[in-house]
Amino acid sequence: MTDCLFCRMVAGEIPADVVHETDRTLAFRDINPQAPTHVLVVPKDHHPTVASLAGADPDLLSAVVRAAHAVAVQEGLATEYDVEPGYRVVTNTGPAAGQTVHHVHLHVLGGRHMNWPPG
Ligand code: 5GP
Ligand code: ZN
Repeated sequence: MTDCLFCRMVAGEIPADVVHETDRTLAFRDINPQAPTHVLVVPKDHHPTVASLAGADPDLLSAVVRAAHAVAVQEGLATEYDVEPGYRVVTNTGPAAGQTVHHVHLHVLGGRHMNWPPG
């Protein structure tokens, strides 16, 4: 048994509010939302960071990015061809960025105005 939180959610051992799923990706609502839409998109395989995923399995990284856009479409933040009103994708990598779960995940945030740069 793994002690990785997101692997356990993919395995169904810990409940997740799933909003989108493909054969290789899972998307579920963040437990502590920072915006009206705050969904986490993960690969079903364990990779610690976006960089390690890009090196090990670029097709899977592409699948995760496409799943993030599909979530945004589902949430009314974009269409297949357009990005109105728009959304933000964030991937915290390492301690300085605040990564707390070491299974790569894209935060999909939207439904409010986003400031730039982030704090
Ligand atoms: P990070 O800080 O690594 O970029 O993001 C981890 C995210 O996972 C945080 O936004 C946090 O709220 C979320 N999170 C932590 N534990 C759980 C959980 O048990 N369920 C869900 N759905 N989200 C979680
Ligand atoms: Zn994992």
